[in-house]
Amino acid sequence: MTFSVMYIYFTVAMKVPSHPTLILRMRASRLKKLAGPKPFVAASLNEVAVRCGRKGCHCATGEGHRRWHLTLKQEGKTVTFYVPKHRLAEVREWVKEHRRIKFLLREISDLSVGLLRAEAQRRKPLRQRSRR
Ligand SMILES: [Zn+2]
Repeated sequence: MTFSVMYIYFTVAMKVPSHPTLILRMRASRLKKLAGPKPFVAASLNEVAVRCGRKGCHCATGEGHRRWHLTLKQEGKTVTFYVPKHRLAEVREWVKEHRRIKFLLREISDLSVGLLRAEAQRRKPLRQRSRR
């Protein structure tokens, strides 16, 4: 049994406004939020139920012992680490912070692309006008 801890963030591409000034303002505010990040980890936190193998333990027949694992990719392989209880709250914050930063990076990138697109669209009518 595996329970994934999911943090809800929008996964769809953001709606980038069409005005360059507004795009620049939105990007600046996100860059500010990106400054001075807290510790983070690029991994997911999962709760698992394990059987210890001891004779007579309740886990042999009933529910397993609950453990928290940190799962990540290292050199293309999925690696799992046991997270001790005293570290759980902290590790949960690391995972959350990584998702926050990842989301911000994505938005800043979308805004940069949006800025180029908005500027290109604003230049078009001018060029067409000058040809006349
Ligand atoms: Zn057990």
